[in-house]
Amino acid sequence: MTYLIFRFYGFQTLLTDKERKEILALNTNDIKKLDNKIENLYSKYKKEFESYKSQIIDIIEYCLFNDDENLKDLKPLERLVVFYSKKNIEEYNILKYNQFNKVIKINKDISKKTEKEIIKDLKDRENNRYGIQEIYEIDNFYNLLFLELYFILQEKTYLKKCKNCGKYFLTTNSAVIYCDNVFADKKTCREIGANKVFTKNLEKDEAYNLYRKVYKKKQALAKSKGGSFEIEYNLFKAQGKDKKNAYKLKEITKEEFIKWINKQ
Ligand SMILES: [Zn+2]
Repeated sequence: MTYLIFRFYGFQTLLTDKERKEILALNTNDIKKLDNKIENLYSKYKKEFESYKSQIIDIIEYCLFNDDENLKDLKPLERLVVFYSKKNIEEYNILKYNQFNKVIKINKDISKKTEKEIIKDLKDRENNRYGIQEIYEIDNFYNLLFLELYFILQEKTYLKKCKNCGKYFLTTNSAVIYCDNVFADKKTCREIGANKVFTKNLEKDEAYNLYRKVYKKKQALAKSKGGSFEIEYNLFKAQGKDKKNAYKLKEITKEEFIKWINKQ
């Protein structure tokens, strides 16, 4: 992850003028030379990047995965307000170099309040003591990193911690709780999760029965006629497994599952 951030996230804003000129002088067709150069720079900045990674993890843990009872009803961005107000921001240059008060505008002075008081204020929705304004100016590297984080905390993209392997992953479906990484025996965490789901009453389930019916029909056609029917059957088998798992894990509704089967 650290290396990926380094390569793709506008890292050039961190480099010295000389380093930037050296990169620009390289022939972009010479991938090897370019790779070498970037890797050299990466080793130079590695420590800094590892620090960004741990800063992001700290913030994300606090805003998304913190089980603290006091924070329970606060939205991720509201938690960020508490984090920003009460943690030592000197240690978090991602926050420090962002004009946070411009991005999230709090209508009330909270600088002298305790953590508990800020949480109480934020929870008091009727009094609407705070408002969130979306303004972002990007003129340095920290702005970019912060903006990515900001989108995650706004729940436009969901950052989840896999219930099976514990690793972070991104999804656009808030119902997803397992990642798609292969965990063991060629099975992904999501498949493992779906297999754990109670399936006793599945035979009585209309969506599942419809799925079985279509499955058997396609299988028989593939066997007797082959060719394109076989291709179609294999496609259905692969996609169907995924949809069936999604249905079992309640990532999609019964209606969505049936709609998909009927389209096949
Ligand atoms: Zn996982």
